[in-house]
Amino acid sequence: MPDTTYILDSNARFTSLDSMADSSFKNITEKFAEIDAQKFNDSAHSINQKTFLRILPILFLVFIGTYVVIKVVAVLYDSVKEQLEKWLGFKILDDDNNDKSYTEYQPTSQNNYLVYKGDSLGLSNKEVVDILKKYYTYYRNLDKHLQFKFFDRLQKFMNSKQFIIHTHEPFKEMPILICAAAVQISFGLDDYELSHYPYIQIHKEEYFAENSLRVLAGNVQGSCITLAWNQLLKGFSNYEDGSNVGLHEMAHALYFQEILVDKDNESFELHFSELMYRGETVLQQQKCPHNLYTDYAFSNLQEFWAVSVELFFEKANDLNNYYPFVFTTLKDILKQNPIITNQPV
Ligand SMILES: [Zn+2]
Repeated sequence: MPDTTYILDSNARFTSLDSMADSSFKNITEKFAEIDAQKFNDSAHSINQKTFLRILPILFLVFIGTYVVIKVVAVLYDSVKEQLEKWLGFKILDDDNNDKSYTEYQPTSQNNYLVYKGDSLGLSNKEVVDILKKYYTYYRNLDKHLQFKFFDRLQKFMNSKQFIIHTHEPFKEMPILICAAAVQISFGLDDYELSHYPYIQIHKEEYFAENSLRVLAGNVQGSCITLAWNQLLKGFSNYEDGSNVGLHEMAHALYFQEILVDKDNESFELHFSELMYRGETVLQQQKCPHNLYTDYAFSNLQEFWAVSVELFFEKANDLNNYYPFVFTTLKDILKQNPIITNQPV
């Protein structure tokens, strides 16, 4: 656990997704009221008072009717839009908000989060390096030139993300340590930015899954990677126990990025299929005779993959001894060897 933490620089840019709320309906109704008033002024002088009094209720009913129709259309718009986009095969953009990356993400708890853009976190290079040296074993063990490579990738990775922090106590270590986990597992690969995931969500402690009472330490859903900060720290505070939720969730994210989104890394796909194929035999055992894999790893092949990645980095020698085929295949998938700690790639 860290013995000190730092409050994020107050100059760091804060934004709120609340500011992205759609105001188009308000604009439409205001505009309508303006046009209606103008028409009324233009025509009023040409009709006598008696006629005006006769048509006033009709005008009122037309106005109310139009208002109700606009309101119903506005409410139905969002629910129909998604289906329509599927049929059309492209996104329908809101007139006043062309940046869909803001509106696709729906935070689970309203009004209790901070949003940071990764390219304006206000962190100096020295701060980033100091935090890595202090908390990040994998980085500390690397040779100097690989530390530079790690730092460079980390900066680019952080710059491309937005951080939604569900606490009013944000720490500088949050974005750095979470992104470092992603950089670590993809360190041997050319593509490391996990571009399918522009959002990283951080909860202070374990949190409830969306629409469920399951309590989670981390999960990957939609375009967002979510982690519980206390569990992430626990994972990195002991780098030899084979349990690390940061590496675990990044393994899930990497699978989605490489296998389901990019689909262009043939080596990754080939070796991943091999791991899944041979992993079936391990799963059939239902239990690990060496007390290496936890029972959770036997839930399904996806969890077997993510837990294997945790063991690959934190218990590399044990994994190599007890399950050499898993270790070798992971070496081929991730193109690195964590047993050689100063030069894994
Ligand atoms: Zn998992």
